[in-house]
Amino acid sequence: MKPPDAVEVGRRPMLRLKRGHDTPRSHPWIFKGDVAEVSDVEPGSEVTVVDSTGRFIGRGLYNPRPALCCRVLTWTDEPLDAAFFRRRLERALALRSRGQTQPPALCRLVWSEADGLPGLVVDRYGFVLVMQCLTLGMSRLRATIVEALIGLLGDVQVYEMDEEASARLEGFSAARGWARGSGPRSVRVNEGGVGFDVTIGVGHKTGLYLDQRENRARAGALARDRDVLDAFSYTGGFACHALYGGARRAVCIESSPEAIAGARQNLALNGFAARAEILTTNAFDELRRLERTGARFGVIVLDPPPFARNRSAVDAAARGYKEINLRALRMLEPGGSLLTFSCSHHVSEALFEEICREAAADAGVRTRVADRLSQAGDHPVLLNVPETRYLKGLLLEAF
Ligand code: SAH
Repeated sequence: MKPPDAVEVGRRPMLRLKRGHDTPRSHPWIFKGDVAEVSDVEPGSEVTVVDSTGRFIGRGLYNPRPALCCRVLTWTDEPLDAAFFRRRLERALALRSRGQTQPPALCRLVWSEADGLPGLVVDRYGFVLVMQCLTLGMSRLRATIVEALIGLLGDVQVYEMDEEASARLEGFSAARGWARGSGPRSVRVNEGGVGFDVTIGVGHKTGLYLDQRENRARAGALARDRDVLDAFSYTGGFACHALYGGARRAVCIESSPEAIAGARQNLALNGFAARAEILTTNAFDELRRLERTGARFGVIVLDPPPFARNRSAVDAAARGYKEINLRALRMLEPGGSLLTFSCSHHVSEALFEEICREAAADAGVRTRVADRLSQAGDHPVLLNVPETRYLKGLLLEAF
C-alpha cells in the first residue's frame, strides 16, 4: 500500500464530474451519480476533481464503496499533504481559541466539513483528545493528524474512538485505543461550574454531548426553585445544570444502563444525588405515566436521539416527536419552559416547529417561542453546507 501522504508523481488521479453536476463547486460532497469517470486509485486516497470539460474544481479523498464517494477538502490547487492538514488543524484551533493561546479545556476542536476536514472529529477533554475518523480517507491519515495535533497542542494524549457504523459503511476497521502509549480511564471536566466524569472510550459521541453545552447552561439559568424533568438524559447533563442553577429537584428519564451509571456518578460528584431521581425506562412510556399521575414541572428538557435516520423514517419520527412534546406540554406549569430538540438530519427546522405547534394545539397550551436553539458555537454551521446545522431546538414558554 502506498503511504497516504505520498504526492503523486506525474499525472494525478482524477475524478471527472458529469456535465451539469455543479454542486461540488461549493459543497464538499460528491455522490456516485455525479461522477462521469474516475482514475483507478487506491480506495481512500486523493483525487483531483475536475468538471466535465476537465477544468480544476478541487481535491478530495475518494472511496468507491459508499454512495457519497468523495469529499472535497480544498478548492485550491494545493497538495493534500501533512502541511495541508496541519494548516487546517491550526485554523480549527484558532477558531476555538478566540484570542487565547489555546482552545478551551472542554470543547470540540475539529468538526468535519465545518472545519474543512470532512470525516474528522476531535473533542478536547482537558489533556485528552478524543478523535473520530468517519471516512476511509481520514482513517488512512490518522498518524498525520495525531502528529499535527500533538505538535500544535503540546502535552496531550489522543484516544481514537471511531464509530462502528461509519467504519462499516466506509470499509475500514474502527480504531479504539490510545494513539500513542496509554492515558487515563476517565477525566474530570468542568462545564460552567458543573463537574462531569468522562470515561474515555465509553458511551455516546466521544463521551459527552458537547453540542448541548450552551443549552445546558440555558436550562440551568431557568431552573431556580423549579421542578425539572430531563427526558433522554444520557449522563444527566441537563439535570446537573438545572440543580446547579437552584432547581428544587430533577427527574431524569433514560433507558441505557451505561448512561444511567454515568448520570448517577455525575449527580453524586456535584452533591446533587439527594435532589435527583433517575427513572430507568423508556421515555415514551414514562412521559405517559407521569402525565397520568398529574405530575407538573417548571422546566422540561426533551433531547431524544435522532428518530429519523433516513428520509423514509420522517413520518414515524414526526409522530414520535409529536407524542413526547404533547406529553411534555401537558405537564408544563404556567410560566414554565420547555427546551425541546431534534438532531435528525432529515427533520427540518420548519417541520420540527410545525410538529411542536400541533402538539401545543392538541395539548391546549399557549406558548411563546422564547428562543430558537442550536448546537454549540464550536460546531460551526456553513452556509453552503446546510447539513452542518443538525441540532434544532425551541425554547418554549407556557403562558
Ligand atoms: N441530553 C443529553 C444527551 C441525550 S442523547 C446530554 O445533554 O448529555 C439521547 C439519550 O436518549 C441517549 O442517552 C439514549 O440512551 C437515550 N434514549 C434513547 N431512546 C430512549 C428511550 N426510548 N427512552 C429513554 N431514553 C432513551
